[in-house]
Amino acid sequence: MADNIITIDGPSGVGKSTISRKVAVFQGFTYLDTGAMYRAVGLHIVNNGVDESSKEALKKCLESIEITLIPAKTETDDVGVLLFGKDVSKEIRTPEMAMVASRVSAIPLVRQKLTEMQRMIGSKGAIVAEGRDTGTVVFPGAANKFYLDAKADVRADRRVRQLELSGKKVDREEILQMIIERDKNDSERTVAPLKKAADAHYIDTSALTIEQVTEKILSLIS
Ligand code: C5P
Repeated sequence: MADNIITIDGPSGVGKSTISRKVAVFQGFTYLDTGAMYRAVGLHIVNNGVDESSKEALKKCLESIEITLIPAKTETDDVGVLLFGKDVSKEIRTPEMAMVASRVSAIPLVRQKLTEMQRMIGSKGAIVAEGRDTGTVVFPGAANKFYLDAKADVRADRRVRQLELSGKKVDREEILQMIIERDKNDSERTVAPLKKAADAHYIDTSALTIEQVTEKILSLIS
């Protein structure tokens, strides 16, 4: 059992990132935002017009990819991302890039590459890994696993509030549809689909605040 690894998985808009950052700060662990890595790969594939149906083209593009995660400066900041040294932190955090990430994350070669990178990061120090498959595939031996969930409607409202707070104008219905589509893609793909690990604690966050979920997680960590 790896007691230096905590995994937090679940669908989009469930509060995973905020909660994972808080748990990481409390435990003194590094927060690993695996979604940011899928977003960066998606951006690279799109920017370079890589043919997603060609194994050769994907292999070539993934072989040389350089992704650097910059720890968030505060508890409320997102993790920064450099792609080949260029800051793409803002570019990857759009609803459109989330859909691209969801599409490319179903490609086995992409998952293989990022799983390797994530395990490498995990081998170097204590981490809170957040994503869709961190408890099931990337770190199956983690001692503390959590699966957060909430109704799609609640998640759409949270996402709308979050985007509005960052100054973006959004259409709630469109956001809800994107969430539903992304959940479907993520949970129905053949490789590493979104699902609760058998030994993960399940927490429905629909009626809970960020603080309540964080406290619950901290109280369950063994
Ligand atoms: O968590 P975030 O919204 O940044 O993730 C973007 C997309 O990346 C997800 O919708 C999912 O398709 C993919 N992802 C994944 N496995 C992970 C993390 C993210 O497939 N561990």
